[in-house]
Amino acid sequence: MVIGKSKREIEKMRAAGRLAGEVREALRAMVRPGVTTLELDAAAERMIRDAGAAPTFKGYRGFPYSICASVNEQIVHGFPSRYALKEGDIISIDVGATLGGFVGDTATTVPVGEVREDWLELIRVAEECLERAIRQCHPGRRLGDIGWAVQSLAESRGYSIVREYVGHGIGRRMHEDPQIPNYGKPGTGLKLKAGYVFAIEPMLNIGTHHTKTLADGWTVVTLDGQPSAHVEHTVAITEEGPEVLTRAGEKYAEPRAEAAALSGV
Ligand code: MG
Repeated sequence: MVIGKSKREIEKMRAAGRLAGEVREALRAMVRPGVTTLELDAAAERMIRDAGAAPTFKGYRGFPYSICASVNEQIVHGFPSRYALKEGDIISIDVGATLGGFVGDTATTVPVGEVREDWLELIRVAEECLERAIRQCHPGRRLGDIGWAVQSLAESRGYSIVREYVGHGIGRRMHEDPQIPNYGKPGTGLKLKAGYVFAIEPMLNIGTHHTKTLADGWTVVTLDGQPSAHVEHTVAITEEGPEVLTRAGEKYAEPRAEAAALSGV
């Protein structure tokens, strides 16, 4: 059952979302060669607790950390570790914060120093897929419109879409109904209503869409070892259209304006 939120509840979700977005941006600013993913995790936990909130992921079904840190071929749910980021890596940072009884959930994929162009392009397209999906979040549209917005762009650029992991409704709990796949048929599925709040999270791979889980029981990697990008926002559907609750002054990975100018967009 999809739990619709009142205006008052969305206001609370705005606060949780803003905090999650601020933490995401602070972590993005910390990313550089030599930083360990455990350092990012510790910084996130400190910021979240200092704000009077709780790191939603910590303890969730036994997950031991405050963020997911997924490097290169890791897709989602990566364990922070003593691994020091290297020039040329890409890292997906996923942050959840529970504030005032509601959850904000957001992720971004960040290049570490100089990164090869085809990996940067993967990140850019993942971000573009997320923005396209967000633009579907109007009352009366369908769940399949969101999935199709992601799938059609990603596949037209030659990327594959992860099937086993999907977005989700979000509210007092991190995972509520419905599941929000990054693929689908336009005009099909659940009809969107004002008051629904979704965590939309495209996961795009350069190679195969198939995945496997590492021995830690959490870290999901691409089966072929090629890189993956993952981006996520918490989005409220309002009568006026989508409101992104986790925006918080994000910076994109690379010179998008320049790329757009070159492609004539
Ligand atoms: Mg999520």
